[in-house]
Amino acid sequence: MKVFFFILVFVFGLHAESISPLPLANSLSSFEKTPIPFDIPSLKIVWKARIEAIHATGVLPLIDVESSFNPSKFDLIDYAQIMDDKGVALIALSPQIGDKAYAKEGKLWHDVPRTLISADASRYVPTSTSGIYPAWTSEPKSFINETIKQVTKQHYPLLGEFEFRHYLSTRQVKRNESYRDVSIPIDSEAGHVLFDFAEKTGISFQIHYEVEDALLNPLEKMLDTYPHANVIWCHFAQIRYSGNAKRFTPSFVRGLLERHPNLYFDLAFGDKDSVYKPSNEHQATIWDRNTGKLKSEWTQLIEDYPYHFLTAFDIGGDRHDELPKKIQNSREVLKSLTPKTQEIVAYKAFWKLVFKEDI
Ligand SMILES: [Zn+2]
Repeated sequence: MKVFFFILVFVFGLHAESISPLPLANSLSSFEKTPIPFDIPSLKIVWKARIEAIHATGVLPLIDVESSFNPSKFDLIDYAQIMDDKGVALIALSPQIGDKAYAKEGKLWHDVPRTLISADASRYVPTSTSGIYPAWTSEPKSFINETIKQVTKQHYPLLGEFEFRHYLSTRQVKRNESYRDVSIPIDSEAGHVLFDFAEKTGISFQIHYEVEDALLNPLEKMLDTYPHANVIWCHFAQIRYSGNAKRFTPSFVRGLLERHPNLYFDLAFGDKDSVYKPSNEHQATIWDRNTGKLKSEWTQLIEDYPYHFLTAFDIGGDRHDELPKKIQNSREVLKSLTPKTQEIVAYKAFWKLVFKEDI
């Protein structure tokens, strides 16, 4: 019912200063859960109106396909204001289960997207629990079974990011968090269950999968076995040990996309100067550091397959405050593309992949 209220607000009384109504409180703990299943058709009307409202102000609307958050530290009003100020239409926001909650309750699922939608239906796309340490990495099979059960029951339109191969990030090395060094084979039993679910339902999922020559064939085999499973490979062309990733060239990726129309990438990577400390290498290899633009051969690939590349911020539970910077990075990436491709990568590709229709 709440959704219809938002529709009425859009139709009859949109305030000039805010693109959508602001949440009524900062903290998620102030809100009840919305009933399930999610009413995706009604939500889509609200989301579409928000995209159009941003467009009407002359700003290119952005949809972030890949971010996660710590619900206990999340500030709803702060995020709503930044999103409105900077033309962000939607964030597909996936909750993280912290190690304390997992240790205490053995939780495999976080139900907070229901609260998020009740608090602010116009700005977020409910996205399933992040596949990260400790729940996913400790018991991948149980985690994916629970995810499938809940996603099916609640009508989630999108699955969060599953870490199959994940090196330590620079900040994890600093914090000595070696448990984030994750290696779950993509063709393990849990991987097959995930791909099979996506194959049968058309619901996309995201993978964190470091670029390594030895990991490419197993992924291709899975994409072949499940040709209708839509896979979003996060952090396009982020290479942290170039010695292990010699095959990942623009022509190789072009071949990948030709062979696997079910493969997508998100464009969450560091800025041109970002260095991966453990290897001391510039990890965002897509940038031409002389011109400050994307390298032309990568740009050409995105221009040729625009619906296969999606804007993403990669917010995490330990870095909610990075939203303005991530938005700026994403807009910087778009600058290297033609206006038509910018529109697609910014939001149209998301809509087409997740809702199977053009916007
Ligand atoms: Zn990731």
